[in-house]
Amino acid sequence: LPPDQQQMIEAHELLRKFYHHLLLNTKEGQEALEYLLNRGFTKESIEKYQIGWSLPNWDFSVKFLQKRGYSLSLMEKAGLIIKRDSSEEYFDRFRNRIMFPLWDHKGNTIAFSGRAFGQDEPKYLNSPETVLFNKSKTLYNFHHARAPIRKLQKAVLFEGFADVIASDRAGVANGIATMGTSLTDEHIRILKRITDTVTVCYDSDSAGIEAAFRASNLLANNGFNIEVAQMPDKMDPDDHIKKYGGEKFRNDVLGNCMTFMSFKMFYYRLGKNLSNEGERLQYIEMLLNEISALDKAVERDHYLRQLADEFSLSLEALKQQQQQIFFSRK
Ligand code: ATP
Ligand code: MN
Ligand code: MN
Ligand code: MN
Repeated sequence: LPPDQQQMIEAHELLRKFYHHLLLNTKEGQEALEYLLNRGFTKESIEKYQIGWSLPNWDFSVKFLQKRGYSLSLMEKAGLIIKRDSSEEYFDRFRNRIMFPLWDHKGNTIAFSGRAFGQDEPKYLNSPETVLFNKSKTLYNFHHARAPIRKLQKAVLFEGFADVIASDRAGVANGIATMGTSLTDEHIRILKRITDTVTVCYDSDSAGIEAAFRASNLLANNGFNIEVAQMPDKMDPDDHIKKYGGEKFRNDVLGNCMTFMSFKMFYYRLGKNLSNEGERLQYIEMLLNEISALDKAVERDHYLRQLADEFSLSLEALKQQQQQIFFSRK
């Protein structure tokens, strides 16, 4: 690495250790620590994920870095501090936040995400894009999860990194997450090198379901096998694990996934009133289109039967219509 980038990483590593120390060993950090413990974080996960807390001061890290000889303009490029418009002064980007280090794939700390634990906005504040940190290439936890993903031949993709940490506690070691952005082609390329199977386990609120649909399609179009997990009551994985425990999460959520096709069925019927004849026919037509795109005859047959049963339709009629779509595509 160029010396500038090496120094940026060093500065991140020093701050990471200091934030972690503040969280665990100081009186000032106590409220943040209690917040985390109340949320269900354990000492072990705080240790493994090197979680910390940043002081409320405006210039703590400015002074901390200056004292250790780092150029402030370089530290600004690293995203750690911000220059005031009106003067040569700098101030801290992260103040009074729970600090989550973000790593590159080798495990170097290259950025932070800071979570507010009072009413501060935004809820999560990320480092800006820098020479070290590119959100569309970053998969949270990849350096820990790479070996488990290879071994299990499957990755579990979450929406939030808090879900990755909670599910790790629940015994799921192959979890990763994007940094609040949608899944990109770059993420896909990184994953494709180590596995071709992904469980999509996004939040079960409407934003999460939309995002899961988009991510699943992107994964499927890139040749991944997919299954999709859903939780009840708009929960996210972290909520579910806190409420029901790790075993239920593994068995009832991850162990009870939908196929991509079943997820499409679930998705297309959201917001539809299937007792309305017009909406019902529209829904059936959408599914026949999806079924026609399936490669395997056995799968097409399976979903056609399901559709026939659910809506008391003749299997013959469904087959006929599906075949029309199928051949008109060829
Ligand atoms: P928590 O449980 O702490 O509320 P979460 O992981 O459930 O967090 P979500 O609101 O579901 O958070 O958002 C998922 C992800 O989106 C977060 O992990 C974060 O990366 C990103 N995110 C959420 N809110 C913001 C925000 N205001 N600014 C930037 N990124 C955000
Ligand atoms: Mn969400
Ligand atoms: Mn969430
Ligand atoms: Mn959450």
